[in-house]
Amino acid sequence: MAVAHNLGFPRIGGDRELKKAVEAYWKGDITEDNLRQVGRELRAKHWQLQKDAGIDLVPVGDFAWYDQVLTHSLTFGVVPERFATAGEKPTLDTLFAMARGVVESSCCGGAHAQEMTKWFDTNYHYLVPELTADLEFALSWEQLFEEVDEALALGHKVKPVVIGPLTWLWLGKVKGEEFNKLDLLEKLLPIYGQIFQRLAAQGVEWVQIDEPILSLDLPQDWKNAFERAYNLLQAEPVKKLIATYFSGLEDNLGLAAGLPVDGLHLDLVRAPEQYPTILDRLPAYKILSLGVVNGRNVWRCDLEKVLATLKHAHERLGDRLWVAPSCSLLHSPVDLAREEQLDEELQSWLAFAVQKTEEVAILAQALNNPDCAKVQAALAQSRTVQESRANSPRIHKPQVQARLAAVTAADSQRTSVFAERIKLQRERLDLPLFPTTTIGSFPQTKEIRAARLAYRQGKLSEVDYQQAMQAEIQHAVKVQEELGLDVLVHGETERNDMVEYFAEQLDGYLFTRFGWVQSYGTRCVKPAVIYGDITRPQAMTVEWIAYAQQQTDKVLKGMLTGPVTMLMWSFPREDLSREQQARQLALAIRDEVVDLEAAGIKIIQIDEAAFREGLPLRRAEWQAYLDWATESFRLTASGVCDETQIHTHMCYSEFNDVIDSIAAMDADVITIETSRSQMELLDAFETFHYPNDIGPGVYDIHSPRVPDSEEMANLLRKAAKRIAVEQLWVNPDCGLKTRGWPEAKAALEHMVAAAKQLRKEYAKAV
Ligand code: GLN
Ligand code: ZN
Repeated sequence: MAVAHNLGFPRIGGDRELKKAVEAYWKGDITEDNLRQVGRELRAKHWQLQKDAGIDLVPVGDFAWYDQVLTHSLTFGVVPERFATAGEKPTLDTLFAMARGVVESSCCGGAHAQEMTKWFDTNYHYLVPELTADLEFALSWEQLFEEVDEALALGHKVKPVVIGPLTWLWLGKVKGEEFNKLDLLEKLLPIYGQIFQRLAAQGVEWVQIDEPILSLDLPQDWKNAFERAYNLLQAEPVKKLIATYFSGLEDNLGLAAGLPVDGLHLDLVRAPEQYPTILDRLPAYKILSLGVVNGRNVWRCDLEKVLATLKHAHERLGDRLWVAPSCSLLHSPVDLAREEQLDEELQSWLAFAVQKTEEVAILAQALNNPDCAKVQAALAQSRTVQESRANSPRIHKPQVQARLAAVTAADSQRTSVFAERIKLQRERLDLPLFPTTTIGSFPQTKEIRAARLAYRQGKLSEVDYQQAMQAEIQHAVKVQEELGLDVLVHGETERNDMVEYFAEQLDGYLFTRFGWVQSYGTRCVKPAVIYGDITRPQAMTVEWIAYAQQQTDKVLKGMLTGPVTMLMWSFPREDLSREQQARQLALAIRDEVVDLEAAGIKIIQIDEAAFREGLPLRRAEWQAYLDWATESFRLTASGVCDETQIHTHMCYSEFNDVIDSIAAMDADVITIETSRSQMELLDAFETFHYPNDIGPGVYDIHSPRVPDSEEMANLLRKAAKRIAVEQLWVNPDCGLKTRGWPEAKAALEHMVAAAKQLRKEYAKAV
């Protein structure tokens, strides 16, 4: 019998019940018991859903109050001292404190939250374990064992899920004195031993150990550590399935296959090519779990196609074959059944977590019991869906394909080189040295959000909504004029989100009502879905931006979101490469750029906040990505004349390894985040001569702190040591939409003062 199992189920709940309950608990509206009850109910519901779908082994340990990496830190007793309550075991409040920090109060000092960062190449963020050389581990958190008992009591066949020791250590960050994280392994392994013994005593047969770092380029000492670790854990009394995902194992395949454990899971969605090789490398005693249903996307699986591989594997492996999603379903929305507002055809193309577990179960059934009517019906339905998608005119638009086919190399090239363009632009824009600007958004106040909600609910008319937004634009423009900023923006008041706002106006995107995915903690996002070729039925921003320009004689910068970011923050198609989707988006946004220029806008910013996020996990694949991502940006930006200045913005500062590609984007001006790292980024400019203009952020908009102008001036002086002053712009780190007006104004006032100060200093110097 081929076994159907799942690697993890989304924990937030179809209605984001977990988010709501946790937030209510934080506010003091419900008790810890109430909160725990919500957790219990969600887990029970999710296990039952999976069982009903036909999953043989349900995961336990995929539930987390905030983040599964954080749960592991607590389990191992890794609670940084600033949260530790001397000698006592951590509580739920300790967990939330580690996640969110503690505000300073009169009685006791504050404590900053643990750092948060992206989970591999997903949009999920985990809390980074803090590792110190003297760290001692102790089993300190009972959650996993309690949940196992809970599931067993409900009659489920369970498979606890833990993050493996190597992956957990890899994700941690060294604090204090420098040391090799791997030195902690020896001390950590006994904790895993204890966990496995406890689980075995509870009656558990199989444990899933997630080691996704096996899909990364690993240093040799880490590879060696894998062998050492699993040799030591070999004697523990549970069967172990090592789960890998998000990329192929490649050079680690032999290592993974040979580890002394009982099974291996591979992501065949991301890396189907590893399939034939693994058959030859897998020892004859081992289970092979094949991840064939995409856990990272919203599309229905092509069951027949997948079944071809599975049948082959089943012939070779028999009962040793397990069927699974590619990775945990944490990354897909919960239940498609709720999306009644989608038309039948669109719905028929989609599958969320509940539907994906059904697909996994059907695939296993198709191996075990191929003639059963349910299997036959599911296969027939899958075939119909594939055919309808392959032929639908809603997806395939000849005019888009024709336009793309006609794109030439010249289309992604500005007319003249930067050195020529910038002369024309300087003449036309007539800006001072150290020109000041912002990143685009101004505070999204309660009033703005209320107006948008009322408009969406039909309680505020189109005209009234428009007037309310125009009043906001007027206000933002007036404030900027009073502050003395050089390049103004309209403030993005009319935008809910930098991707959704554009996606809603493009053809080829669909929107779900409940398609929430956890981003971190209680924060969930509802990505738009690209389902077909992209077109832009009409101009998207021109009216707003032209209106703003009419309010001022100063230069006003138009704001757009770039193609790579549009793609990275959406669910992409599976029937077309990411590159092709980016190019389609590029052409649509290019038309908007051209329209803005025609409306008299002299500076246009194309944000690429997610540019770096698209980098593949494996280095060897970086260049191919960077090439098409850069090309897509240039295709978007190159429809305008030399005099029009193109800006771009990126929200992070780790550029050193991609700086050539950033330069190759050839934006006239780039604004980037640098203030938190004290302009560390600029180290890259020691060796790399960045050719175009650049605005390193001079203050951190993520914090309510308002730095004084001398602090900002100092950062600018630091920047001016590395970059020619003619190239430098002065701006905050990112958009101001999450800030309030008083702090935004105060900080910008200091920023303008800092710029004026530097102008003076450099005027003297010249
Ligand atoms: N223009 C956007 C803003 O100012 C950019 C946001 C971002 O980069 N995340 O909000
Ligand atoms: Zn930003």
